[in-house]
Amino acid sequence: MSSPSATSHLPPATRWAELVRARGLRATRDVLRVLLLLEASSAPGSHESIMQALQTDGSGQPVDRVTLYRVLDRLMQAGLLTRIQDSGRTAHFTLAQSAPSGFFECEQCHSLTALPDDPQLPALLEQLNARLQQKGLHSTDITLSVHGLCHDCEEDSHKP
Ligand SMILES: [Zn+2]
Repeated sequence: MSSPSATSHLPPATRWAELVRARGLRATRDVLRVLLLLEASSAPGSHESIMQALQTDGSGQPVDRVTLYRVLDRLMQAGLLTRIQDSGRTAHFTLAQSAPSGFFECEQCHSLTALPDDPQLPALLEQLNARLQQKGLHSTDITLSVHGLCHDCEEDSHKP
């Protein structure tokens, strides 16, 4: 009755609630709102942007700053969220299950965009890992970081 495939037919909130409880956390309203929000968004969210999005998610329930920090912290410890720090040292959060192998970071506004899926990338990262191991270095996580200007900032830089 509880095979993994069976849970995919449940409503998202119920599915998350089960997953959260399976990791030993309480499935509070705020925990579920954060997970649903990140699931629906295409880019990782900073504390600030998640805060703003939660204020307008239609539930009419504000989340206070401290509660959000605690929720993000708990979800990180439970392994449900991945934290990425940009070069400006701002933390961005994304679902661990959908964390891509890397990000494009805008040098101006520090927005993060997941790198496009490339079928060759996993093999390349494996190779890199093997080379590191030859040097006696054991990686636990590899995240590529590509820097440049995002569309918006690129356009702004062309304005007179
Ligand atoms: Zn930008």
